[in-house]
Amino acid sequence: MSRFLCAELAALKPYVPGEQPQDKKYIKLNTNESPFPPAEEVALAVARREKSLNLYSDPDCRALKSAAAALYGLDEGCVSPGNGSDENLAHIFAAFLKDKGVAFPDVTYGFYAVLCSALGIRRTVVPLREDFSVDVADYASVTCPVCLANPNAQTGICLPLRDIEKLVLQNRQRLVIIDEAYIDFGGQSCAPLVKKYDNLIVVQTMSKSRSLAGARVGFCFACPEVAADIERVRCSLNPYNVNSMSMYAAVAALGARAYFEECVQSVISVRGYTAERLKGMGFEVLPSSANFLMAKRAGTGGHELYEKLKERGILVRHFAEGRIADFIRVSIGTRAQMDRFLGAVRDILGEE
Ligand code: PMP
Repeated sequence: MSRFLCAELAALKPYVPGEQPQDKKYIKLNTNESPFPPAEEVALAVARREKSLNLYSDPDCRALKSAAAALYGLDEGCVSPGNGSDENLAHIFAAFLKDKGVAFPDVTYGFYAVLCSALGIRRTVVPLREDFSVDVADYASVTCPVCLANPNAQTGICLPLRDIEKLVLQNRQRLVIIDEAYIDFGGQSCAPLVKKYDNLIVVQTMSKSRSLAGARVGFCFACPEVAADIERVRCSLNPYNVNSMSMYAAVAALGARAYFEECVQSVISVRGYTAERLKGMGFEVLPSSANFLMAKRAGTGGHELYEKLKERGILVRHFAEGRIADFIRVSIGTRAQMDRFLGAVRDILGEE
């Protein structure tokens, strides 16, 4: 650390993303990417834009706002785009939480805590139930804004729409931020509720169900006044935050409905297949509505399993801290990739 760093950032621990090996040696099941390439239309859209990279991208991101809004029958004025939904989260946290703090579960997306440290936001940590589900009643007495991933990150467990609405209605003076990074794999989006409630913000990403993690595109939905506040922050920090190739890649991917459905259905079906086989080998598997599974097995350490899978060319994720240290998180790949993963697990258990 240099002597120039702001004192308040001295204790900052940056977010540690899953490994991204560049040698492509591994079957990558560690960062919840799609195992499928982007829709065919995406390559065409990118090639078309490449020729005008001498020009800045549209700072209003009109094409992206319009395509994202159309997903839920919303107006363009209800959308703010991000360079990945991580950036949307940063804009939202900066816009609304600095003076109020935020509450989120003890097991959730680690980036929320990192953003709090980076921006000096007070956090209230609310434990999940014993079975790792969220009880919205636990938030009834919370007066600061609430941030939930739904389905939750690291568990995959999803709250039904009625529970999200209950949370929003518990306190209309408090903002509720719902991070729907994984919603397409089994949940029902609450995005249409922004028409009814001005204290709801919904964040979504192109990185998972739409195969564009490398393009870095996300967006959030809110009532026009709240969306305008988020836009104010976005345009103050980086008005050209979404580059033109990524924006048109995203628009093309949002238009490729049949391909999207096909990819999502494959993930859902392979998720069920993988979960059943893991259970057959003695694993406890959390009920997932996301594109990953959290699994643990008595007598087999999470870290040990992670290491042994890595030795066999398969990358999964292990979180060393807290209540999930015994688990591994495995992203759902193709059926062939999951068969390789299951074979490697069988092999490892055979050694024990
Ligand atoms: N929210 C959750 C819950 C996530 O797991 C992720 C992916 N790490 C993100 C947001 C951020 O995704 P991206 O920035 O790629 O849109």
